[in-house]
Amino acid sequence: MTDLVTLLAATASAHGERVAVRHDDSTLTYAELDDASARVAALLRDRGVAPGDRVALTMPNVPLFPVLYYGILRAGGVVVPMNPLLKAREVAFTLRDCGARAALVFPLFADEVTKAAAETGTDCLVTDPETFDALLRGHEPLRDTPDRAEDDAALILYTSGTTGTPKGAELSHRNLALNTLTTAETLLQVGPEDVLFGGLPLFHAFGQTCALNVAVAAGATLTLLPRFDPRAALEVVARDEVTVFLGVPTMYAALLHADLPEGFDAGRLRLAVSGGAALPVEVLHGFERRFGAAVLEGYGLSETSPVAAFNHPDRPRKAGSIGVPIRGVEMRLVAEDGGAVAPGEVGEIAIRGENIMTGYWNRPDATAEAIRDGWFHSGDLARVDEDGFYFIVDRKKDMIIRGGYNVYPREIEEVLYEHPAVAEAAVVGVPHPLHGEEVAAVVTLRPGAEATAEEIRAHAKERVAAYKYPRVVEIAAELPKGPTGKILKREIVVDGA
Ligand code: AMP
Repeated sequence: MTDLVTLLAATASAHGERVAVRHDDSTLTYAELDDASARVAALLRDRGVAPGDRVALTMPNVPLFPVLYYGILRAGGVVVPMNPLLKAREVAFTLRDCGARAALVFPLFADEVTKAAAETGTDCLVTDPETFDALLRGHEPLRDTPDRAEDDAALILYTSGTTGTPKGAELSHRNLALNTLTTAETLLQVGPEDVLFGGLPLFHAFGQTCALNVAVAAGATLTLLPRFDPRAALEVVARDEVTVFLGVPTMYAALLHADLPEGFDAGRLRLAVSGGAALPVEVLHGFERRFGAAVLEGYGLSETSPVAAFNHPDRPRKAGSIGVPIRGVEMRLVAEDGGAVAPGEVGEIAIRGENIMTGYWNRPDATAEAIRDGWFHSGDLARVDEDGFYFIVDRKKDMIIRGGYNVYPREIEEVLYEHPAVAEAAVVGVPHPLHGEEVAAVVTLRPGAEATAEEIRAHAKERVAAYKYPRVVEIAAELPKGPTGKILKREIVVDGA
């Protein structure tokens, strides 16, 4: 059986004494993670969780996350991770939508989840680390993992894509185990000596597969940082001798301008991985210069477990590219009418392979729309070069149409990042009576840097075609961000437009 529980069991028997998870001074070895998760499985069984039941999980990045995550899988349950910041109404939606049998929640976030659980009649357990150990000791480890087929659901990830109500992407045991193994073996090339940075939220696909599950498969250590802050991140990198850093582009942008802790040494850092959103080329080069580790960009979605493409470490990486399809995955570009696109032209990325979700939970129509003839349609627009490297142009839904011309915000953002005072940039379309849409930009400035909106507008005007440059530029204190740190374009309001 190809599944995550089998991977954990193998690592626990080969590297039982190695540290699996670290959070500040507390550590959990693989033997301990294996034992505790088997006890969680017994506890869940006693509470009536049967194989195939959905169990919601609301946890920050603390050692209890992997204990409960693997515990649910061991009991044969389907993990439904939730963003801890969801309000009761949103939690209730998820619990109802997936028909959760139980909800596990960290005390800090218990208010909203217990309210939602009461409303939906879901069994709710608040897992207070102070008392949880004692509770677990009262249960003998459950070793007879129930029979589950490889194609059965292991995980449901709620994702709203760019619009609409959230849908649950259903990922199978096989999806998760294969994407984890391919990432561990061929992309990050992780071994037991590695220390992975755990600052990406584990409830999201990127952190879950690429940091947590990759560490487990390889017997490496995952060092957790519950709330990302650039200074704290650098302290963790130095203190725990992190070898592989994983982050979204806004984290890299923040690290580029952060003050270094005294005597900072990133000595063992060998690789930095970016994904989740486009990494501006300026930020990539700036990070490589400052920290001396190669940055490899990858691409994926919740629906693709998540990794689909990557700049392979054994081939020269191309800055600005998401790389090539990974092992076991095919990619192609499709035109608006579903046909092939001419070489060099923009098309929608379609993906086929062992990483594609089985479908959206209880949404046959949405599934049929997304997966056609075995190809998952991503909603992302890209070009491919003569070496087979893919370059994301933008999300289909973020494209701006100004006076009949397509403007891809990403292209303009790259130009804005080249301005020495700009820390972060987001380009959006705003309604315009004549052109339909107008291009607008909102930027934040680097600490201590000064520039006027007019200077930034002029910088862009000089560098791109007249129909593309942002007529409106606003300087903001910060940009709205989602839980992983991705900039939320939909929440950007441009006052001056
Ligand atoms: P999620 O399901 O939350 O992981 O979001 C998936 C979306 O993130 C994709 O559809 C892309 O729009 C975006 N994304 C992921 N990786 C990249 C990347 N390297 N460059 C640009 N966009 C990306």
